Amino acid sequence: MNEHDWHLGYRHPTPWETDYPPQSLVALFETAADTHADRPLIDFLGRRYSYAETRDGANRVACGLAALGYGKGDRIGLFLPNAPHYLAAYYGILKLGATVVNYSPLYTPAELAHQVEDSGTRALFTLSAKALLPTALAVLDTSSLERLIVGSVAGALPPTKSLFYRLFRGSETTKRPDDPRITAFSALIANDGSGAHSAIDPVTDVALIQYTGGTTGTPKGAMLTHANLTANARQVVAIDPHPDEPDRIVGVLPLFHVFANTCVLNRTVAMGGMIVMLPRFDAAQTLAAITRTKATSLPGVPTMYRALLDHPKTASTDFSSLRVCISGGAPLPAEIKAAFEATTGATLVEGYGLSESSGVVSANPYEGNSVAGSIGQPIPGTHVRLVDKENPLVDPPAGEPGEIVVAGPQIMKGYWNRPDADAGVFIDDAQGTRWLRTGDVGRIGADGFVTIVDRLKDMIAVSGFKVFPSQIETVLYRHPAVREALVIGVPDPYRGEQPRAYVTLTDVAAIDGAGLRDWLNPQFGRHERVDQVIIRDALPKTMIGKLSRKELVAEVAASESAL
Ligand code: AMP
Repeated sequence: MNEHDWHLGYRHPTPWETDYPPQSLVALFETAADTHADRPLIDFLGRRYSYAETRDGANRVACGLAALGYGKGDRIGLFLPNAPHYLAAYYGILKLGATVVNYSPLYTPAELAHQVEDSGTRALFTLSAKALLPTALAVLDTSSLERLIVGSVAGALPPTKSLFYRLFRGSETTKRPDDPRITAFSALIANDGSGAHSAIDPVTDVALIQYTGGTTGTPKGAMLTHANLTANARQVVAIDPHPDEPDRIVGVLPLFHVFANTCVLNRTVAMGGMIVMLPRFDAAQTLAAITRTKATSLPGVPTMYRALLDHPKTASTDFSSLRVCISGGAPLPAEIKAAFEATTGATLVEGYGLSESSGVVSANPYEGNSVAGSIGQPIPGTHVRLVDKENPLVDPPAGEPGEIVVAGPQIMKGYWNRPDADAGVFIDDAQGTRWLRTGDVGRIGADGFVTIVDRLKDMIAVSGFKVFPSQIETVLYRHPAVREALVIGVPDPYRGEQPRAYVTLTDVAAIDGAGLRDWLNPQFGRHERVDQVIIRDALPKTMIGKLSRKELVAEVAASESAL
């Protein structure tokens, strides 16, 4: 075996067909709800919701959606922060045989509308929060979206049977009480929750459409089947040396992101654990939640661990319950890993994955040798190999890194309505195995540990969120004074990377960098906002005259290191 050979999962070297028989997310959830009916599944700011109560909420959502005319194959969106509604809506949609489309709560109206149109989302769940409802209403008025379902987290009552109904009864402000296209969450679930379930084929039915820039930067929907997602949840549980000790997992990563969908939600359900749910990341609140619930696990992105380390309350926090934390989404600096482990006594392991792989491809072992700076070994049932990035059908030259390609039960069915994109991302080999091109360049050590050395994708990782320069450049070009624009990621001590724009102008007297930045940033969500717009006389170009982002990155890195 040489360094380019594929490596199978390190703990269970058996084919995935036998290890991960296709299962639906509904079956995974129902089994957990039958087995652990009275166990808490959610702790939301101290209020607890059992598996049975969450199932009751999901049944009611399924029934309510069916009564509104939705059913098998429909796409229904979640424009929600982490809240109990997310789980009730998620499983309710799935029970109906429909597909969940995840939306970032940070989307602007334009971003939301684009995804609504592309996916054909018919109805959208949201909350009557200031940051969400105006955006959702604007999109309802200007797109093909048919319906908004609006919930509220205000007006909480203590947990009892049929909690979802009692908790959310009449507490929403839908803003437009007479608009027939707006349904209050409490009205949706005012039924007895019986019926409205469809048969699901876990192999062909798409559970989730997860939008991602993929390798080219134009957002497209990765279609993840039920079998993809349940396999990935079980694969992640399989690398845990103590799968029989159900975790209390701090759910502070946003559930709309595939990493949280697998490592927080589906993993918790697969092991009968509890999600310590927080609406958003706040260091003090996260520290308090760890102590209050004796949390055992905290999946996160590197910037989160750094923020916790920097917080004054960390010194007085009781971390004794914390066992294993999984960092993903961006490279984990060795100093953060070492400092976090020294401070908390927990293990912080780095993992790797992407939307197209249902979240997780590889991870470092929880116990024993983890390799700092490496993304670990393929998780069970997962094949990873390197190919020549110019010619993906052949191995890279000996000793050279190559593009990481992956095969396994967690690899997506394809992109939604984009056969052209599928053709570029899948490689079918002579043995009939379908490999996913990741756009990441890596090396594989003799021990099977993989290290990422480069990224083929033009992607900026801001706090683990993916920002695509081309989207920001497209908007910059709309300004009449902008002649050329390039956006690159620059290092940021807190967020990992940060977008920065470089432009040339048609009229240098028309506007300055600060003015352009103030014009640009309000058009984007938090992660896409640039720290600076730098005006230049010229931007680097390739041999054929195309603007060269790659050269600009190299130029900026060289001038920074010269400082
Ligand atoms: P997304 O589809 O938004 O989850 O983005 C997936 C991409 O994030 C991968 O293709 C990598 O480029 C990057 N990524 C994820 N985990 C890591 C990691 N541990 N180290 C470096 N890059 C990572």
